[in-house]
Amino acid sequence: MTRPADYPPPFDPSEFLREPSDPADERIEVGALVVGAGPAGLAAAIRLAQLLEEHPDVRERLGDVPIAVVEKGRAPGAHLLSGAVVNPRALRQLFPGMPAVDMPFFAPVVREGVYFLTEKRHIRIPAPPTMWNHGNYVVSISRLGKWLAEKAEELGVMVIPETAATDLLVTGGRAVGVRTGDKGRGRNGEELANFEPGSDLTSRVTILAEGTQGHLTGVALRHFGLSSKQQIWALGVKELWEVPRPLDRVMHTMGWPLRRAKRYREFGGSFIYPMGEGMVALGMVVGLDYTDATLSVHGLLQELKGHPLVRPILEGGTRIGWGAKTIPEGGFLALPDRFHFPGGMIVGDGAGFVNVPALKGIHYAMRSGMLAAEAAFEALRPGRTAWVPGALASYDRALRESYIWSDLQRVRNMRPAFQHGFVRGALIAGAALNSLGKLPPRDLELHSDAEADLFVGSTNGRYPAPDGQLFFDKLSSVYLSGNKTRDDAPNHLRVHTTVRREIGEAWKNMCPAQVYDVAGEASPAGNAVRVEVTPSNCVQCGAISAKGGRLTPPEGGAGPEYTSM
Ligand SMILES: Cc1cc2nc3c(=O)[nH]c(=O)nc-3n(C[C@H](O)[C@H](O)[C@H](O)COP(=O)(O)OP(=O)(O)OC[C@H]3O[C@@H](n4cnc5c(N)ncnc54)[C@H](O)[C@@H]3O)c2cc1C
Ligand code: SF4
Repeated sequence: MTRPADYPPPFDPSEFLREPSDPADERIEVGALVVGAGPAGLAAAIRLAQLLEEHPDVRERLGDVPIAVVEKGRAPGAHLLSGAVVNPRALRQLFPGMPAVDMPFFAPVVREGVYFLTEKRHIRIPAPPTMWNHGNYVVSISRLGKWLAEKAEELGVMVIPETAATDLLVTGGRAVGVRTGDKGRGRNGEELANFEPGSDLTSRVTILAEGTQGHLTGVALRHFGLSSKQQIWALGVKELWEVPRPLDRVMHTMGWPLRRAKRYREFGGSFIYPMGEGMVALGMVVGLDYTDATLSVHGLLQELKGHPLVRPILEGGTRIGWGAKTIPEGGFLALPDRFHFPGGMIVGDGAGFVNVPALKGIHYAMRSGMLAAEAAFEALRPGRTAWVPGALASYDRALRESYIWSDLQRVRNMRPAFQHGFVRGALIAGAALNSLGKLPPRDLELHSDAEADLFVGSTNGRYPAPDGQLFFDKLSSVYLSGNKTRDDAPNHLRVHTTVRREIGEAWKNMCPAQVYDVAGEASPAGNAVRVEVTPSNCVQCGAISAKGGRLTPPEGGAGPEYTSM
């Protein structure tokens, strides 16, 4: 048996917990602090700012900076990547009365098709109800993030980009803010000429909205004992194309190039969305509990583009964007037991609010952010304190009464069913769908991605050779992501560098950004290989954290610069 779980990363969450250390007069004090300018964090900031506008007395109590949002990307939106078809429900709740034309949508979904692919053919199949998209809109989440950040700033929120929150400040058993990361350190941690130390950002309430594989979210989950559940992830690799002919529908595919045999445990599919008249977004999303170490989601996306259904959509076009990101896939069965802790709350993908059968997370992220803001507001009113145990419990209660809860509960067994192979998975998922979640009678168990037993198969040789027109290699993809990580920055990836060959191969093939390479032949003793790591290629997708390593935030401003993902 060779499982990534046998090589736990050299990482201890307590390294990232600390007491405030800056002298009191040098700390930056804010009222409410949000970590992450994604849909969840920005919806939280906007909702809280709306409430403070209605209650200037509470605003007054929160000091010069009532609400701040820190974002590690170069600008809001730079680290956001999604499909995306958005359910506008949460946006309408956040901006009541705002017409859809004033929101940053490309177009409403008017036509859609779901296709089952074999290598050369396709069959259009009836869309399962979870995939109906009428009433939804196509968006670029990077543009949505930028727009939401502007709305937040109009309401007086301070948005601080290029700033990674690296440590959770905890004192007396309660979270009191974050420490931001140093900038300008060299490969071995030495201070370079442009060195800038991080700072303590203290707050009365801290909302962790870090999205998938959230770094401080993981630290808080562990430190405050919030979860007894197992999360699983999928990796999404996406391209953006300028095309000569408009695509007239939203498309989803299943089947090829994934294999159905149970031993591979390959689950996923593709999305192909029109972004206005001249652009198409397409991506491949694959569960990270697969077993063949040679599988590459980047490679599968290249393969997909050669399919007779997909090639004509792109022919004559130009690839203009590329990126990758993970999606928490465990759904309801992986949700933490508690979403608040003394002084803070967890929202969005960090908590795992994603409906996988529908491929939807944006409106759940936004709604959870809004509910957290309302709980924060209640706790910040005169006479209350957000860090008294239970002060933020109204957030958990509101979540349980919201559509986030009922939607995720209904589809809870659909994704775990596919951990038992494609055919059994399809049968169980069908029963779950038709019975509105009543079947199967007992909930299924989730098995961690890092516990999948790996073998070295032969998938890799199958992927099309790069031609620079339709098919591309990983390095040209990383270049297109606008990645700005310095070559001489400290290594932000925690992995063992001597591992069994299956693990080394799995990391090398899985990583869409060519960060890992296997050096030399496996040693006969223990089948061990040395893994070489090029951290500056990393686009912070989070996949390594699911498969035996650990991504920590590099310095603020590093990483991709997505503009239309
Ligand atoms: C390939 C793919 C396709 C998808 N398709 C759809 C779709 O069609 N429709 C849909 O509704 N959903 C879709 N989703 C899911 C959706 O994108 C997510 O559910 C949603 O983005 C979650 O929002 P969030 O705010 O919780 O996290 P994110 O969008 O990930 O935002 C988190 C932000 O926090 C920042 N951050 C993280 N850690 C730190 C830190 N320590 N310090 C400072 N900043 C930090 C990040 O840089 C990022 O900007 C898709 C996801 C993927 C990957
Ligand atoms: S090294 Fe970076 S880009 Fe590669 S899998 Fe890990 S997080 Fe993703």
